[in-house]
Amino acid sequence: MLISPTLILHNAKIYTVDESRPWAEAVAIAGSHIVAVGDNQQILAARTEKTRLTDLDNHLVLPGLCDAHIHFHEWSLGQGQLLLNGVGSKAEMLEAIRKWSSESKPEVWIIGRGWNETLWPNAEMPTRQELDEVTSSLQPLILWRSDMHCAVVNSRTLALAGINRTRVDPDGGLIGRDPDGEPDGRLYELAINLATPYIPDPEPAFLERAYIQGQKTLHGLGITAIHSQRMKDQREGPFSLSTLLRLRENDALKLRVNSNIAAHDMPHLGALGLRSGYGDDYLRLGHIKLFTDGTLGSKTAWMLEPLESVERGDPHPNGICLTKPEEMAKAIEMAGQLGFPVSIHAIGDRANREVLDILEEISRSSSQQGTAHRIEHVQIIDPADLPRLKELGVTASVQPIHALDDMEIADSLLGDRSDRAYRFGALVRSGTQVAFGSDAPVANPNPFLGFHAALFRQRPQSMQNPPWHSDERLTLEETIFGYTLGAAEAAGWQDTIGSITPGKRADLIVLDRDLFSLVDAEKYPQGIAGTRVDETIFDGETVFKYGGE
Ligand SMILES: [Zn+2]
Repeated sequence: MLISPTLILHNAKIYTVDESRPWAEAVAIAGSHIVAVGDNQQILAARTEKTRLTDLDNHLVLPGLCDAHIHFHEWSLGQGQLLLNGVGSKAEMLEAIRKWSSESKPEVWIIGRGWNETLWPNAEMPTRQELDEVTSSLQPLILWRSDMHCAVVNSRTLALAGINRTRVDPDGGLIGRDPDGEPDGRLYELAINLATPYIPDPEPAFLERAYIQGQKTLHGLGITAIHSQRMKDQREGPFSLSTLLRLRENDALKLRVNSNIAAHDMPHLGALGLRSGYGDDYLRLGHIKLFTDGTLGSKTAWMLEPLESVERGDPHPNGICLTKPEEMAKAIEMAGQLGFPVSIHAIGDRANREVLDILEEISRSSSQQGTAHRIEHVQIIDPADLPRLKELGVTASVQPIHALDDMEIADSLLGDRSDRAYRFGALVRSGTQVAFGSDAPVANPNPFLGFHAALFRQRPQSMQNPPWHSDERLTLEETIFGYTLGAAEAAGWQDTIGSITPGKRADLIVLDRDLFSLVDAEKYPQGIAGTRVDETIFDGETVFKYGGE
């Protein structure tokens, strides 16, 4: 060891995710980097009088976790908005809106998210008329569905946005209408963007506060890196990057952010000559984000065959295609010319097939270098298409917790085809590169709920029930990999983070329990989901300590 360590963590059970030395007892850190990993005796021998020693009392240490799919901007802002994740019925949702409205100024927008009618006894979204009854006539309202691919608005918002019976559906979007052809207040996919330009821009200071609070919450969950995702054609890009840059300048960004860029921003990247990887170990440009289709819950997933519950006369029985294949191919080619890999949202089996067809076609004419392309979600995939990810070198960016959130809806909408959904086990066994995330605010960002989902395929509170498609379960090692080195590799960050290896950044977490002794669900049904982070270290500095401030 050439550099003398500033910090030594010892007497620990360290799972390094480094194949050359999977387990260790101690790690030496100098400043922001790991300088040595080994057994207690060997590492402690390198201490000087300036070295701080921390005895971890045999606690489990992992590399800092990376959430490979989080809408950090929306999630951070959402913490201060009307959150409807817990509401159990339409009546409860309307009551929550009434309360929020009565406590806010009559002309100020009500912005919220998180409702999901499929979890209610009567799976019916509220209408414009019902929303009007609980808001003032001057008060615009927009409430995103939990999947963010649908939103409900009141009459004030419809009027501001000029959405009326003569307004035609935008490309890639659908204005919900009642039997008379009047807008019913439900906006699907890109129709949401008819309303969002009328929402006032957030103030920079407000954004900074929200991001700092978001970062703090993630530290408490053991997350030290994220792949920040875009929403389809939204305006969050400039707010997001500029806020992150200000935090970075003030030395307040204690989270590594690999930032996706919206496809519509490609001309600007081209004009400036910016490439993927531009930035530093704290904030960098990642992939170009593209969208093939919608979501299963909103019935906008692009399917090979119609969903089970599609009603006769439904104008979109096979879901919605958001970006036509020829446009998608053009966008991927343009991204390649600019030096960017792509990150493509694909839920339905048709969407996944189309994306793989395009990537295969492109791989014939040009060899992709650098960071791999990725498909976000790979949610429903035909068995014939699954091995193609590995063959084409495409990363599967998946969210284990979605499998638990969507079990019932997947069974009812897919019927026999539900064995094509959330195939984490098959993807890993096929040798596909995987990266795991939460998709917050669509799902809870707590990675240990994701660990539980990947390991057990059953909700923590329902462990008396059998696992849902149990052959898709993963091992603990596979699960940890997806949240650490797998996610790092998916961002081209494997030399910087993802494992506890000399030379890498000192991002580590200390857990309250030994996950490896709790993987037996019979004995410890909630053991893993209930994991608490004791300490989060970023760049060799403690950024979170349980019970501390
Ligand atoms: Zn997402």
